[in-house]
Amino acid sequence: VLLAYDPAKRLAKLQVQLERATTNARMLYEVLDTTPRQPDRADAPKLSVSDATVRFEDVTFGYSEEDTLKSVSFTAEGGKTTALVGPSGAGKTTIISLLPRFYDLRSGVITIDGQDIAGVTKSSLRAQIAYVTQRPYLFEGTIADNIRYGRPEAKDDEIIEAAKLSHAHDFIMAQPLGYETPIGEGGSSLSGGQQQRISIARAIIRQAPILLLDEATSALDAESESFVQKALEEAMRGRTVIVVAHRLSTVRNADKIVVMQDGTIAEEGTHDTLVADEDGLYAHLSRLQWLGGTEEQTTEGDQPE
Ligand code: ATP
Repeated sequence: VLLAYDPAKRLAKLQVQLERATTNARMLYEVLDTTPRQPDRADAPKLSVSDATVRFEDVTFGYSEEDTLKSVSFTAEGGKTTALVGPSGAGKTTIISLLPRFYDLRSGVITIDGQDIAGVTKSSLRAQIAYVTQRPYLFEGTIADNIRYGRPEAKDDEIIEAAKLSHAHDFIMAQPLGYETPIGEGGSSLSGGQQQRISIARAIIRQAPILLLDEATSALDAESESFVQKALEEAMRGRTVIVVAHRLSTVRNADKIVVMQDGTIAEEGTHDTLVADEDGLYAHLSRLQWLGGTEEQTTEGDQPE
């Protein structure tokens, strides 16, 4: 189980990731951290989730003096998928990182079902959020440990169920020790697509109503890609999803697309309404076959008309 893995060692390793300034590791570390470092107000209530609608209202935020997000307002409807697209550096990942309260806002409010997330306990907030980072973070331990990390109290049959949903069960069973197969630091013994499916199983087992997804930009071979895509569809089912989207298929299937530019929202709509505005940024990016600057945009069968 997770605790068999020396927590101090685990922290130390994650710390190294932090020092490498990999925001992903930082996020993962903090989302899964069950004891928030900054204590909540003594009287802070727990977040109470019904349909898990997320709303940004006039949110301004910066890492330094400069504002990275400027008066950002949008709604991610409960149970729907909202895709964030736009040029590199526009602030898409930053938006996602504000939801688990990794940082405090400069001004504005983020609410979940009408409750200001700044006013509820961090642990109750983070319990409602699963996060799939761009590059999966796998630690040294068994495959089962790595999946269970999403919800330490999960039972073995729940781990298997999550692995089946994320299309990981078959390749896990093909390993010498199945679920008890040790994987090296960083998951080096597994292919990129397999690592991603394990990280998706970890998100599924978390059973959180809100899924934050930072889509991978690195290209997988077509077969892995299709398995990962199916796994993501399972993870997204019935959840409120906010996805930093790099695949055109994700963008097209989203219920809402929010187009970011330079820390602000340039436009929002669906694929059809956005391409119809020929002068708009989305239509422009679409014509360039470039919505997130990734290789997938140019793979076969994934071209804009
Ligand atoms: P990409 O598609 O390249 O990931 P993005 O739209 O997600 O881009 P962000 O990662 O949100 O953009 O970055 C927005 C701005 O904030 C960039 O100028 C970036 O350099 C800066 N930034 C991001 N994370 C941090 C951080 N942890 N500390 C300081 N600055 C940061």
